[in-house]
Amino acid sequence: MLDDITRISSEFDAALAAANTAAALDELRVHYFGRKGGLIPALFSRLKEVPKEQKKDAGDALNKLRDRLESELKEKQERVAAEEAKRKESRDIIDVTLPARLPNLGHLHPVTIIRREMETIFSEMGYSLDPGPEVETDWYNFEALNFTPDHPARDTQDTFFLDVEPYLLRTHTSNVQIRSMENHTPPVKVLSCGRVYRRDEITMRRSPMFHQAEGFLVDKGIHIGHLRATLEHFIKRLFGADSKMRMRPSFFPFTEPSAEVDMSCVFCKGAGCGTCSQTGWMEILGCGMIHPQVLRNVGIDPEEWSGFAFGLGLDRCAMIKFDIPNIRTLFENDLRVLQQF
Ligand SMILES: [Zn+2]
Repeated sequence: MLDDITRISSEFDAALAAANTAAALDELRVHYFGRKGGLIPALFSRLKEVPKEQKKDAGDALNKLRDRLESELKEKQERVAAEEAKRKESRDIIDVTLPARLPNLGHLHPVTIIRREMETIFSEMGYSLDPGPEVETDWYNFEALNFTPDHPARDTQDTFFLDVEPYLLRTHTSNVQIRSMENHTPPVKVLSCGRVYRRDEITMRRSPMFHQAEGFLVDKGIHIGHLRATLEHFIKRLFGADSKMRMRPSFFPFTEPSAEVDMSCVFCKGAGCGTCSQTGWMEILGCGMIHPQVLRNVGIDPEEWSGFAFGLGLDRCAMIKFDIPNIRTLFENDLRVLQQF
């Protein structure tokens, strides 16, 4: 027993001298003091086999050995930990000669890019910008815009009505037309870009929240030629100078006459492809001359003034311009997508 104590004592000294990392010292601790198979606990458990007359000496020697090993191990562990901390600190010193790391800059969302381009194009033509409120009353969203009381757009299937009457979430940005015309005497030109809401399921092309842009102009002697020239300028600026447009008769309650506007397909340039269903055209916006009743609703004399209005989906523009097939891509905030813009 005493021989074993002497042997383990000198083995420990050599092993301690060789262990110079926290990990090696921890290994050493387990080897000597570990609850399972540690050399020191093993010696203690052998004490009961020692003959009675030698027990005291063996016990004393064993206690001494344990105390010495423990304190020496602890001392070295503390020294090594301090040295490692010091080395880490010196590694963290800033090397001012290294080139600067570029900050991780954010990206504009594709819809924001389109909105800003549109706002620039129309600002240059003298339009003022007004996003208008998203929570609206029935008057501004429907009634003043000549929607009859039984118009299907007023159905709860299509509109989010708030619990507080008569408020609702606007279904289009046309509410800004009414508010602007109420607050300004003509001539007036306004572009309104913002969020609108409809009770739609989320599909490839539809979302219950989407972005619309609405422009309108009221002045003396405005006719459909002004509308066409304005839209042609806008489409060529946003989608390229070789873009063509055509107008098809349509119906909206707040314009008369009304038209849908198609532009030449940006992918095949009019030749016909899968995206444009081989027609060479893509639907891009709705427009028309402001209905005389709408002008009367805001106290503007339609005999003296006339105007045009147009509206389009910013999400759809972004999908066309950046070739994004699914509207959901725009709202998922996937950095792999957003970083491409
Ligand atoms: Zn095409």
